[in-house]
Amino acid sequence: MSRSVFITGGNRGIGLATARVFAAQGDKVTVTYRSGEPPEGLFGVRCDVTDPASVRRAADEARSQFGPIQVLVSNAGITRDQLLVGMEDDDFRSVIETNLMSGVTVAKEVVPDMLKARWGRVVFMTSMSALAGAPGQTNYAASKAGLIGFGRSLAREVGKRNVTVNMVSPGLIETDMVKDVTDARREHVLGQTSLFRAGRPDEVAHVVRFLASEEASYVTAGIIPVTGGLGVGH
Ligand code: NDP
Repeated sequence: MSRSVFITGGNRGIGLATARVFAAQGDKVTVTYRSGEPPEGLFGVRCDVTDPASVRRAADEARSQFGPIQVLVSNAGITRDQLLVGMEDDDFRSVIETNLMSGVTVAKEVVPDMLKARWGRVVFMTSMSALAGAPGQTNYAASKAGLIGFGRSLAREVGKRNVTVNMVSPGLIETDMVKDVTDARREHVLGQTSLFRAGRPDEVAHVVRFLASEEASYVTAGIIPVTGGLGVGH
């Protein structure tokens, strides 16, 4: 079955890997990108997820191209790491705006398509930091923990219409987002995994693909770790 899939932040990192996995199985994929160029071979629409008008335009472009949206992967995200005592309020706010509020905006825009069709799949990209906490990430962890509460409540609102809502919770995945992580921090984090290595974007992508599949029809409100064993017990 070829579905209309909408992925935010799909021009690089985990979002791009996810887009490629969906496209490879024949889905009609729209990726949003904020800067640069759309990725080769994929339908890209420019979108700043912190701007509801921009999200609406992007979703409309996706609908004109591929029809009503059936799968949403709300993936765009940023970090602005700093210990709380030194953190600018703006850095806290922009992380909440980009990571949490964008999930709200995109879901509000896209979920009505799914309710109408009485079928849909929503996946929010959260983080192990939301559950375990991480020094320097009070803003990031709060935004991702917010997404979990939001997603679980949304799951209860839309389940009767055969729409599932799940959260994927990656550990340390090799993307631009973690290129500034210090060697000491990286060693500390990876030392707590069972696999003693960082993850690859495609290893997250395949979990998202499963959650969006027909086979995952009885999985909703879940938080699926893709962490190499980091944070076991959360
Ligand atoms: P990257 O930094 O590689 O990619 C982030 C993506 O988000 C880019 O496509 C970026 O677009 C987009 N983005 C950021 N802000 C906006 C915005 N305002 N509007 C539209 N798009 C935006 O990160 P990852 O691929 O690693 O991260 C993807 C998701 O996975 C994020 O939600 C992140 O929090 C989460 N995650 C990542 C982990 C990791 O270890 N890498 C661990 C846990 C969670 P642009 O290119 O235009 O900047």
